[in-house]
Amino acid sequence: MSYNISVTKVTQSRLPSVDFNNLPFGRIFTDHMFVADYQDGQWQDLRIVPTGNFELHPAAMVLHYGQAIFEGMKAFKNKDGEAVFFRPEMHSERINASATRLCMPEIPAELFDEAIHQLVALEEAWIPPVKDSALYVRPFMIATDGFLGVRPSETYKFFILTCPVGPYYAKPVTLYTEQKYVRAAVGGVGEAKAAGNYAASLLPAKEAKNKGFDQVMWMDEKEFKYIQEVGTMNIFFVIDGKVITPKTNGAILKGITRDSIITLLRDMGYEVEEKDVSIDEIVAAYEAGTLQEAFGTGTAAVVSHVAGISYQGKMMELPAIEKRVIAHKAKARIEGIRSGELEDKFAWIKAVRVLEAV
Ligand SMILES: *Cc1c(COP(=O)(O)O)cnc(C)c1O
Repeated sequence: MSYNISVTKVTQSRLPSVDFNNLPFGRIFTDHMFVADYQDGQWQDLRIVPTGNFELHPAAMVLHYGQAIFEGMKAFKNKDGEAVFFRPEMHSERINASATRLCMPEIPAELFDEAIHQLVALEEAWIPPVKDSALYVRPFMIATDGFLGVRPSETYKFFILTCPVGPYYAKPVTLYTEQKYVRAAVGGVGEAKAAGNYAASLLPAKEAKNKGFDQVMWMDEKEFKYIQEVGTMNIFFVIDGKVITPKTNGAILKGITRDSIITLLRDMGYEVEEKDVSIDEIVAAYEAGTLQEAFGTGTAAVVSHVAGISYQGKMMELPAIEKRVIAHKAKARIEGIRSGELEDKFAWIKAVRVLEAV
């Protein structure tokens, strides 16, 4: 099935007023957005329109019961100036896994694919031609029935917004091992990219900041013993040359960067183990002097080095960033694949399809 997307263009682009060398994250939106409405069991009225406000009934179910999910992905200019996506089909699959968990309709893979390609092709001039810059692509879906009863909505809107973003220089972060709040419990919605997970994380993040730490390290809900994630990133540790990361169990977001890094490190010959990682194991490695690296992974920064981890009032300082090996290699390999400087061995790069001339 092919999808027909109508296009209404702006009369005057805002692009000339944008400074690509000074892009605050998530504040500058391109001229156009994609919208589709779900009604009578189908996605309808697929359209690309000028980015702007839209109407919503105050009883819209998303505002009351939180049926809202999203994705975060990027389009880049490769070294030849061609626009490309990184593993877009993984984002399509994940938004549908999130939709299923929140009783929302799936977005057919071809619809998602057609929408991201047409929108990004139209906005190609907004992809900053600056190294490590990108067009951040934010697909999201909300429930729109104007109804206060608790049940899944019957109508939805699916949007895609795009924002040019600059290089993300993530400074090394300090982590606070959370012992009071949980991000997600097994059986809950932690594996879904659900808007409400973020709302729930704000207070713990604020309290951790007030204590002087950058990010929360989320622990399991039963014993506060097993590490889940950090902030909104997955987490990796390097102990004595071996890489370990918490195995997904329903409470951990299945990061596409996480999956990519596991694949690439194994391809480079490193041993990577996905397993339950306890804080005791990290403390023991720290005390033995074998905790060499820790880093968070996500689409935004690819890799964020961990400078230190606070646990039970003690700060475990990790080795200097210059001494780290594996995190640097993983980041360089992903960036090299994205830019086209390194072989795309796993076929992760998808060129943005050029618009047919009208
Ligand atoms: C999006 C997200 C990640 C990272 O996923 P990527 O696909 O690598 O960007 C990790 N943890 C949480 C909670 C997230 O929402």
